[in-house]
Amino acid sequence: MKMGPSQRIPSSPCTNCGKEEDGASCVGDAEEDALPNPGDFCICIECGHAMVYGDGLVKRDPTAAEVQIMAADPRILAIQRARGYVMKDKAKWREIARGNIERNLAQCVEEDGADAVFDSAYTLAVDALIDAGCAPDLAREIAKEEAQVFAQP
Ligand SMILES: [Zn+2]
Repeated sequence: MKMGPSQRIPSSPCTNCGKEEDGASCVGDAEEDALPNPGDFCICIECGHAMVYGDGLVKRDPTAAEVQIMAADPRILAIQRARGYVMKDKAKWREIARGNIERNLAQCVEEDGADAVFDSAYTLAVDALIDAGCAPDLAREIAKEEAQVFAQP
């Protein structure tokens, strides 16, 4: 069983946590194009909620019958396991970003204005994450979230 490449899909929110996702990766035995179809199952990477793609790939909660099918599908377990690794990685990157922003923030505040603080802390954190081996897309996402926490007045 392997994970396919990430694909862009129309954005729709998780029915549990509300996180908007516009990407999907398939899990299966065959080489697949990874593009989901209505009726396919999906797992929210953020909270692990199991859902089904409906019309236009808008995510919906599964019916009772679909829940039973999911429970017997080894791919769902594999996705949950993969999600565990991703979230563990994310926690590690988040820690690096937070430490970096904390270290640089005092210096930024003295040298620049409030807006520049966010930009400087964000840019430095992205660099630190990429240096540590984080994928650039994920580095930008995590650095932005962490810098916003510190930019709160
Ligand atoms: Zn979710």
